[in-house]
Amino acid sequence: MHIKKPLSFDKLLSTIEKLAAYSETNIADGVTRLAYSQNDELAHQYIIKLAQQYGLDCQQDIVGNVFITLPGQDPSLPAIATGSHLDSVPNGGKYDGILGVMAGLYSLTQFQPKQLTRSLTLIIFRCEESSRFGISCLGSKILTGNIDPQKWHETKDNHGKTLYQAIDEAGYQSAKLEQAELANDAYGAFVELHIEQGKCLEAANKAIGVVNGIAAPTRFRVDVYGQADHSGATPMSQRQDALVSAATIITTLNSLANHEAQLGTVATVGKLNVYPNAINVIPGHVRFYIDIRGIELDSINRVVQGLQQLIAQIMASQPITITLDSLSQEHPVKLNPRLCQTISQLCSEQHIEYLDMLSGAGHDAMYMAQKYPTAMIFIPSKAGISHHKDEFSSPDDIILGATLLTKTLEKLANQKENN
Ligand SMILES: [Zn+2]
Repeated sequence: MHIKKPLSFDKLLSTIEKLAAYSETNIADGVTRLAYSQNDELAHQYIIKLAQQYGLDCQQDIVGNVFITLPGQDPSLPAIATGSHLDSVPNGGKYDGILGVMAGLYSLTQFQPKQLTRSLTLIIFRCEESSRFGISCLGSKILTGNIDPQKWHETKDNHGKTLYQAIDEAGYQSAKLEQAELANDAYGAFVELHIEQGKCLEAANKAIGVVNGIAAPTRFRVDVYGQADHSGATPMSQRQDALVSAATIITTLNSLANHEAQLGTVATVGKLNVYPNAINVIPGHVRFYIDIRGIELDSINRVVQGLQQLIAQIMASQPITITLDSLSQEHPVKLNPRLCQTISQLCSEQHIEYLDMLSGAGHDAMYMAQKYPTAMIFIPSKAGISHHKDEFSSPDDIILGATLLTKTLEKLANQKENN
């Protein structure tokens, strides 16, 4: 086995463009490549073929996760892994996930087998986006033993197809998915390159983000029940206006999160329904959704406690009923400080201006971090737009990100000691 030639920057950029054609929607409407769909399968096969053309060895596990490996000198040392995903949201962008896969392939082809001490592995995780089945990071959850067979068994897409049917129809074996879990010592480190999907890098005018933590969402559904009455015939003193109470909760939530802003905690109400939603009726019922994210669990808990106290106060002082249902309570993930330091140091050596930052969005790296020392590198997203057809990262930033990833993997693969 040998690498026929290093993958060029041109090929890196043109393949990202080419992959956008594997989509159920026309490119003018963005990329729609849902997990385990036909286009998703074709995109994976395309990358496998490309890697093989360059001389790399490719394997797939029982659920379709792809492992592309460049062997190192010492197979007794755990390999260094990189990777990301190829599936998209409906009408998504060209770069989310694909960047990390293509930059990983670029990195592996810059070396010959046995040139580095440790092996390098590019992992393409299946079903990172929750769009089709409501489950995010499926591939990395399976690889790290975070499986929920009971729930997954019943999970269906919008057309009534179960997750397990979709996996099997794509040619994999859902019945054996727990066998895909990786050994705890399979990798010495994992580094994922991804687009930022936010505006922090642009605002700071930095080309690289060194991600030291991933903020996982804590989500609630809130139902506020009052009394729907005529807006003209009901005096102010007799009202049980659900929307007024909802508004109090929303503004208080905002100030609770503002108090925690220095720790990076954020809280959002982005979805709200008012019933009956008529101009001349006092709202009798309001349902809204709360999304709290941060990297400091204590900080998130203070916001949640503040929220619970406020709800108790409102219910004690007014004839209003409020229910708070927990939808998800994932723990924030701190990434490996030594790996982050290695990346920052490489940036300094290359005179690259970087920003230490958090990821507000979840990634496969979140689960890989449970088993292996893990870090992430971000490049800017134009105007912070992502999961949208206008998602854009510049060729210069992509090249810089791929170069930094390569240098990082090279350095880690030549280290004998583990991080
Ligand atoms: Zn992604």
